[in-house]
Amino acid sequence: MADIQKVEACCKKCDSASLTCKYNVFEQADLEIHSWEHKCIDCGYRLTTAYRSDDEDIDFTTEVVDQCPYCGRQGNK
Ligand SMILES: [Zn+2]
Ligand SMILES: [Zn+2]
Repeated sequence: MADIQKVEACCKKCDSASLTCKYNVFEQADLEIHSWEHKCIDCGYRLTTAYRSDDEDIDFTTEVVDQCPYCGRQGNK
């Protein structure tokens, strides 16, 4: 049940403006993972970021995990 949308962003590799933005949420017991992926439709170049609730560097109460770090859109669960 990933949330995938086409977004207008510039590919760092080929300068294409056609990218997909994918938001995925994984929840199991105490673990929560929010992952974001931008993928170029033309060359396949990918950028990924994942927020894990068991990562000590991330404070889930203050970190905005349901917003794309690349294009800033809100993710739909
Ligand atoms: Zn590209
Ligand atoms: Zn995005």
